[in-house]
Amino acid sequence: MRGNPDTSERPGSPLLVDRFGRVATDLRVSLTDRCNLRCTYCMPAEGLDWLPKPDLLSDDELVRLIRIAVTMLGVTDVRFTGGEPLLRPGLDDVIAATAALDPRPKVSMTTNGLTLAKRAAGLVAAGLDRVNVSLDTLDPARFLRLTRRDRLADVFAGLAAAREAGLAPVKVNTVLMRGVNEDEAVPLLRHCLAHGYQLRFIEQMPLDPQHGWDRDEMVTAEEILASLRTEFTLTPEPGDRGGAPAERWLVDGGPAVVGVIASVTRPFCAACDRTRLTADGQVRNCLFSRSETDLRALLRGGASDEDVAGVWRGNAWVKAAGHGIDSAGFSQPDRPMSAIGG
Ligand code: SAM
Ligand code: SF4
Repeated sequence: MRGNPDTSERPGSPLLVDRFGRVATDLRVSLTDRCNLRCTYCMPAEGLDWLPKPDLLSDDELVRLIRIAVTMLGVTDVRFTGGEPLLRPGLDDVIAATAALDPRPKVSMTTNGLTLAKRAAGLVAAGLDRVNVSLDTLDPARFLRLTRRDRLADVFAGLAAAREAGLAPVKVNTVLMRGVNEDEAVPLLRHCLAHGYQLRFIEQMPLDPQHGWDRDEMVTAEEILASLRTEFTLTPEPGDRGGAPAERWLVDGGPAVVGVIASVTRPFCAACDRTRLTADGQVRNCLFSRSETDLRALLRGGASDEDVAGVWRGNAWVKAAGHGIDSAGFSQPDRPMSAIGG
């Protein structure tokens, strides 16, 4: 964030409170911007200009920031993402250090699952509690077109290993795209029900590096639900959704559920409880922020934990009311999703 945010009216709370009464308790940590897939909606075939190695937080720096978030700022949930988090060499140790914090946060990860089959048991032993695996198609040829890699079998193996390692409920994240995989809502739900995975559809957001997102082309939550209702009876899951982005539906009376995250057509910004840390040590208060706060420079400049915590609180305080995708002045953040942490 350039310049100092105006925090003159901020109350003295130690938590990550903002001007609209929200409190951020869910930290998303991007461990790398690199990936071993090239999903067409996320990265060009040749990849992106990766962050230079010296700019990345070391494991010690990363764990220090997570410790500050959990022990000083009230963060209760830590999710590792990327890029592809399984590509981070010290992942198991970072997870173990996070799970050893007091109070212990919930520790989860969002992954493409490619190498999960051989990693799942070790990750659980390190302290991982939950995993979300991204899967947009059940068809190998389509998977190859969509991700530019012939690795669907590895994702299936990764999902099974995650379930067997006790990471239940294993969640599956799907982005449906018009003319690409919009016909797979029903088969994907059938597959997940049969294997005991919990499926969540996510509306595609304007975060692609190609800036090719088109609101009129996006497959909406309404369309996804209409498609599912051709084969299943969906009833709203009873209970309060809290800050959870997914609207959840009981499938054929339950207990199985399916989630739909309508980030664009039914934004949940008013209940957002997230704060984000990029692999190069920038804190962002929203996926769509146009600015970020440099914690790496503070760490490397010798700042105390209390200094870092104070700056992080300032970043949270000035969080915008909403992402503004529908407002006339909206412009995409400079970082693509893979460099923010999805
Ligand atoms: N590589 C990991 C994976 O694919 O799960 C973690 C990072 S990826 C950026 C996290 C999630 O963001 C994936 O489920 C992916 O499908 C989703 N994603 C990527 N670009 C998106 C976009 N423009 N809109 C909505 N979701 C997107
Ligand atoms: Fe990689 Fe995830 Fe982006 Fe696909 S969505 S290219 S798996 S970071």
